[in-house]
Amino acid sequence: MAEQLTVETDGAEKLHEKCGVLGIYLNRRERTTPFNAAKLAYYGLYSLQHRGQESAGIAVSNGEKIEVYKAMGLVADVFNADKLDEMKGQIAVGHVLYSTSGSAYIENAQPFVNRFKLGSLAVAHNGNLVNYEQLKEFLEETGSTFVSTSDTEVIVKLIAKRYKEGLERALTDTIQMIKGAFALCVMTETALIGVRDPNGMRPLCLGKLENGWMLASESCAIDAVGGTVVRDIRPGEIVIINEDGVLSFEFGEHTAKRTCIFEYVYFARPDSIIDGIAVQEARLRMGAVLARESGVPADVVIGVPDSGLGAAMGYARESGIPYAMGIVKNKYIGRTFIAPTQSEREQLVFVKLNAMRSDVCGKRVIIIDDSIVRGTTCRRLIQILRRAGALEVHFRVSSPPVKFPCYFGIDTPCRADLISSSHDVDEVCKEIGADSLAFISLDGMFEALKDCRPESYGYCKGCFSGEYPIPVPGELNGKRL
Ligand code: AMP
Repeated sequence: MAEQLTVETDGAEKLHEKCGVLGIYLNRRERTTPFNAAKLAYYGLYSLQHRGQESAGIAVSNGEKIEVYKAMGLVADVFNADKLDEMKGQIAVGHVLYSTSGSAYIENAQPFVNRFKLGSLAVAHNGNLVNYEQLKEFLEETGSTFVSTSDTEVIVKLIAKRYKEGLERALTDTIQMIKGAFALCVMTETALIGVRDPNGMRPLCLGKLENGWMLASESCAIDAVGGTVVRDIRPGEIVIINEDGVLSFEFGEHTAKRTCIFEYVYFARPDSIIDGIAVQEARLRMGAVLARESGVPADVVIGVPDSGLGAAMGYARESGIPYAMGIVKNKYIGRTFIAPTQSEREQLVFVKLNAMRSDVCGKRVIIIDDSIVRGTTCRRLIQILRRAGALEVHFRVSSPPVKFPCYFGIDTPCRADLISSSHDVDEVCKEIGADSLAFISLDGMFEALKDCRPESYGYCKGCFSGEYPIPVPGELNGKRL
């Protein structure tokens, strides 16, 4: 069914991040009750919903065959109790999609399942391949056909093509061919596999369940199903999980770790821990650095819900200025809705966010958000605060100006739409109508992460600096040629 959904989201004018993934493996020999890998996957995906709201899917293996169910929409809309009861199996992989390289079509929903002569395979992918076009062309020349515009289908076809050489070989060969960012959960009929790209750009962690194992984009999903977080999958590591436990091996050359710094700024849930750094702690410390770098006299500090709250608390603590709620977010606007024009999208900020008059009226307000992308949200927020009687509005941002597109899984608008790529800070301040504006410095952001974990190292900061961890074919100065 070629159900074509043209979906605009509340973040349609912003960056989008691609996807949350997870995998569940339940041991056969410790089996006490019927296998419910799909149900655990469901609860885990629920906790990763913030990473993608366009489609949701779970593939499950009963040891002999793989079935998959996926559809457009939120996890809770796609699955119900009857569906989950039908999906019996010991291993599962799950996915929530926020499309980047492809668009929001049902054909691009994941996991992708491929059935071929030697078996079946399910793949769930978070990230973006930069050599997708070349690989697709190569595969088409050798007889492969594609049903989607997703780069994940290329990964599935490459593994399937080499499967007769054995799973490990097929995986390592494929992984050496694909370039870009990838955190993968792969399932055969009898094994669950986790892979993280050589730079570790996208997160993936391993958890222990009472009678099995779990992989997830973020640790909050492991917590949600009552598991224990064991560790992060290392950049360039493959883990194969089966009845014998967890087998780990590394592939390819050693490259520098380059976790996406935007995971800490915006994407990840504050209760997650990524590469040993608690996301909320990182945000608190970014706020504290921001207060040291660009303090201003004020009566109250407020944050933009939800991702700006941690930095706002950190700013308030460091500056000694009282913290207040200041802004209320409509909780029911988390999901996709239609907003065809830019002016309607701007209007929607008013529906989504409103000021608490009692917190801001007659006060000098410092408002903290995690990022400015096009400048839509902050412009509207400043209007909202002035309407509510704020005397002064000082905007502070806990990430540096976003000036360059991302090719590794975040669907940043093209450079021309990024307000900071064509305006300096004073010009942005004027455009958004603030009394003053300041961004954290790039060094300040690294300092905040180092304070969380002194031995921390290596982040992708491409959206701020234009320096990418690996070359992007056809890219020059933030433009694709
Ligand atoms: P903008 O309104 O275009 O300047 O976007 C900035 C706002 O979008 C901030 O409130 C951020 O919290 C939020 N934001 C940042 N990254 C993303 C993303 N990938 N998807 C949706 N919203 C985002």
